Parts: sequence; C-alpha cells; structure tokens
Amino acid sequence: MLVVMKQSATDAEIDRVAETIRDMGYDARPIPGRQRTAIGLIGNDGRVDSGRLEGLSGVLEVIVVSHPYKQVSREWKAEDTIVTLPNGTRIGGTEIAIMAGPCAVESEDQIVGIARSLREAGATILRGGAFKPRTSPYSFQGLGEEGLRLLAVAREETGMAIVTEAVEPEAVEIVAEFADIVQIGARNMQNYPLLRRAGQAGKPVLLKRGMSATIKELLLAAEYLLAEGNEQVILCERGVRSFDTHTRNLLDLTAIPVVRGLSHLPIIADPSHGTGVRAKVTPMARAAVAAGADGLMVEVHPDPERALSDGAQSLYPDDFVDLMRQIRVIGRALDRELVPPLGTLRVAESAAG
Ligand code: PEP
Ligand code: MN
Repeated sequence: MLVVMKQSATDAEIDRVAETIRDMGYDARPIPGRQRTAIGLIGNDGRVDSGRLEGLSGVLEVIVVSHPYKQVSREWKAEDTIVTLPNGTRIGGTEIAIMAGPCAVESEDQIVGIARSLREAGATILRGGAFKPRTSPYSFQGLGEEGLRLLAVAREETGMAIVTEAVEPEAVEIVAEFADIVQIGARNMQNYPLLRRAGQAGKPVLLKRGMSATIKELLLAAEYLLAEGNEQVILCERGVRSFDTHTRNLLDLTAIPVVRGLSHLPIIADPSHGTGVRAKVTPMARAAVAAGADGLMVEVHPDPERALSDGAQSLYPDDFVDLMRQIRVIGRALDRELVPPLGTLRVAESAAG
C-alpha cells in the first residue's frame, strides 16, 4: 500500500502518516519524490484500514499495490503448484492433463462405457456430475449418491481418476469420499461455507470461475481453500457472460496467461461450458492449450442426442480422439506433453492400491 502525500504536505504531516502506520503495526517507508512524497506501508496482511490513512491531513490518495489475496499469489510462492492424483496424473507441471466425460452420470453402462473410450483416447481423469446444479429446478438433478458409486465403478474398471461436483457444504464429505478431485461449480464459486468445507476435505479441489466473476474474485475464492490448509487447488476458466448470443458463454482465454502470472496454482479450461456449442468446443480447446492451459475439461457423451444434460455441447467419442491428436501437437510446440495414457500396469497398480 502506498500513501501519496499532497504537494503541499508538510514534514509534520508526513511524519504523522508514518507514525500512524507504525501505530497500526506495520513498517512505514517514506519515498521522497521530485513533486511529492509517498509513504510505503510494508507488511500489508490484507487487514489494513486504508480509511484511517485517507483521513489524515496532507494525504492525497491511498493506492493499494499488494493483492488482497496472499497464499494463492506468486509473491507467496514462486514455483508452480503441482497437484498429483493417486493414478499418477500431475496437473500444473509441464504436462497437460485431460478431464473428460459426460455432463452427468446417467447409468452404469453409460459411465463405464464412455470411461473406457476416453481412457483409450488418452484421458486420465473422468468427469461426470452426480449432483447437478441445474439452472431450472425441473431439469435432471443427477443420480446423487448412486452416481458417485457408479463413478467409483468406472475408476475401478479403468484406473481413471474421478472429478465430480459438490453443490452444498453438507455433500462435500460424501463427494470427497468417492472423488479424487472435488469440483466447485461456477454457480458456487462464491459460496463461502461450501469453499471452507471443500478446503477441509483433504482432497484436491477444482474451482470453476463464476460466470460473472473477475479474476480477482476467482483468486479470492481460491484463497478460501488455501486458508483452510488445502493447497491442492486447480482453477478452471469456463466462460463468462457476454452480450453475444452465438455461444452460451465467452471463454475468456486471456484469463489463462493472467492467472499464470498472478498465481502459482494450475489453471485449466472448459471449452464445453465455455461455448455451449459442440462445433466450437474443439477449436477453443486447441486455443486454450495454445494459451498455456495446464489442462482441459471436456464433455463427451456416447449418445449426445439422448444426453440428460448438455447434449448440445457434448463431443462424440470420435471427436474427442481427434481433439487429443491435435492438442498433442500444439502442446509439443510449447514443450509440453499430454499426461501419459494409463497403461495396463498403472491400472493394475491403482486397483491394487
Ligand atoms: C459442470 O462442469 O458440470 C458444470 C455444471 O459446469 P459449470 O459449473 O462451469 O457451469
Ligand atoms: Mn454440463
């Protein structure tokens, strides 16, 4: 934080500001300039009451220079955080991690069948909602606990890790029991009781950006998770509201390099919810990898026309095979490889462990 003094400020006024800062428990560092003096406040823990300084005589303005979030910032930790899953998938290093699956778990045949094809195509993480946060209360709300059980069957069969959403604080525990990654959806990005519980769940958390949330708000939401002692956090850009109606959302690709600059946490992109239109998913997935995403979350359904949710944005399994081939090439141009496919050995190991 920087307190900028008026040109006319006297030495006594400058001293008074410095004294007040010290009185508040921080260090004051006067920075004399040619036109005016500024006083740096060192050690801002996010609790500084800037109003107290703004009101002092001789003060022109108070500029907040440090971020309101701490533990998620690069200043706090310079090196990238890498989230490692039990099946060996690493998210946030040099590898690109792929999460794929249907919007919702619908039946054992559906989830186990699609998991097999996705694994075959090289994905190592299976997505699928058991608890669905639907815009309409009359839409399919998910299979609930039965959905979690079916995801566990798919993991057992394929060795894929599971990511699935918790929509309320009370459900975090049961979701964390089954999932390898607990997902917090866009609609819940600022549900603080839910964030706190997810921060205590002892499992990695995938935090999706709210549809009208700024990047700062996304990072502050992540700060809640880290403040509870959970550093295994993956951020996800999934599109924000826009005035254009050609797509469901506007996938904000700029968020990827911006977040990578500000935070050590991995960031992935979800071009499925980000566009809402099947034909736009693959181009935006390619673009997200080119922009530096640490991974993708993509909806794939064995029979999108009959999907109980988000069929219009779900890829056919064959589209997904093409997508994987294309992003492998794009990744290499950036010296990044896809997370290696799950070999039979690894499946046997994870099933045994
Ligand atoms: C989802 O991934 O299942 C989902 C509902 O996405 P979002 O929270 O981004 O809308
Ligand atoms: Mn969906």
